[in-house]
Amino acid sequence: MRVTDNRYAGERRKFDLAVRMIRLEARTGTIRHCTGFSEDRIRKIYAHYFPGSGQDRVRRRRGKSPTQIRPFLSSSRRQCEATVLGCLFIYFSALKLAGPRVEPGVPGPGGVELGERLCDAYETHRAVYPDPQLSFEWAWNLYQLLALRRELRLGWCASCFGPYIQDAFALDYSRCPVCELKDLARNS
Ligand SMILES: [Zn+2]
Repeated sequence: MRVTDNRYAGERRKFDLAVRMIRLEARTGTIRHCTGFSEDRIRKIYAHYFPGSGQDRVRRRRGKSPTQIRPFLSSSRRQCEATVLGCLFIYFSALKLAGPRVEPGVPGPGGVELGERLCDAYETHRAVYPDPQLSFEWAWNLYQLLALRRELRLGWCASCFGPYIQDAFALDYSRCPVCELKDLARNS
């Protein structure tokens, strides 16, 4: 393969990722982080490929990504959804298990490889949760909190031994949201 072919394939891959991320309503800053494209270029891709209205309309998200941990843990349902998403990060190798801990599956805080793996995970998540509580930007935030900032971590339930997302710095009762939901259903 010639250098120009390689360069074209690399650009094509970034372009495909940008379109995919726009479709998932990622913010411009997040798309930049993964593709290296300028804000102007992303705006042009958006305007060209998603000009429409009605059902196919894709919202363009601006501003900063969310960063708090509370929305992942505010209820057993939310925690369960965050856990499914976190496990999908592992399935698609955005994260890897290192003993009981999780580590980044790819080096660095951004890039095409990471973007593609997070899209794979989030698209699968949407198939499991057709009306998800967590947007793609929350998925991006979840990845950052687990892999880089380490404010969230993967815990293991003392009852069912399954993994679940928990606050890395809070007192935890080693009880996963699935077991909590089962108890709620049993007692209702
Ligand atoms: Zn459990």
